[in-house]
Amino acid sequence: MAAPRSSYSDLLKDPRWQKKRLEILERDSWSCGNCGDKDSTLHVHHGRYLRGLKPWEYDADILYTLCEMCHSKAGADNTTLDQWIARCDPSSLSRIIGYVAAIAADSYSEGFTIPCYDYNTAVGIAEATGLVGYFTERTSDVAAEEIIKASHDQEISLETIEAMKSDIVDRSYDDFLKARALSRKVDQLMEAV
Ligand SMILES: [Zn+2]
Repeated sequence: MAAPRSSYSDLLKDPRWQKKRLEILERDSWSCGNCGDKDSTLHVHHGRYLRGLKPWEYDADILYTLCEMCHSKAGADNTTLDQWIARCDPSSLSRIIGYVAAIAADSYSEGFTIPCYDYNTAVGIAEATGLVGYFTERTSDVAAEEIIKASHDQEISLETIEAMKSDIVDRSYDDFLKARALSRKVDQLMEAV
């Protein structure tokens, strides 16, 4: 006879989860990572449920300490997100991956690599990081091409995107100086006529 499957609430009583839970609460100084609340009941939230994993088998970096209210909001948001993702054409999923990965990168330490494996992921990254429309009326097409080009030389991270933004400003300033020099030259020529 097969052993009865443990229910999820049984798994949460497992000493391995209790140990992991305490480690996460300790790491987060026993306060809600979202609103900072230290007084209400704290939960250790799984950022995402992954098929086949026991609660304690998750990497610590997708476990979050949340207060009662933020925990129930995160649960509801996860459900809503799933419903919207289900309504997206599968061809737009890589754009969503780029977008979400760029947002996630903000929670990680410097140099976190954002996957950029096709044009649509690059569009998502460009949208999430504000490269679309940055400084000039940069279209998502142009921004995505810039990211893809940069990804040939290095892995894409938020720092890479910031460096690209400074380059854009520098180049625009150079263009401005050149245009100004040119217009002065034209003025001088006109005066000489
Ligand atoms: Zn909270």
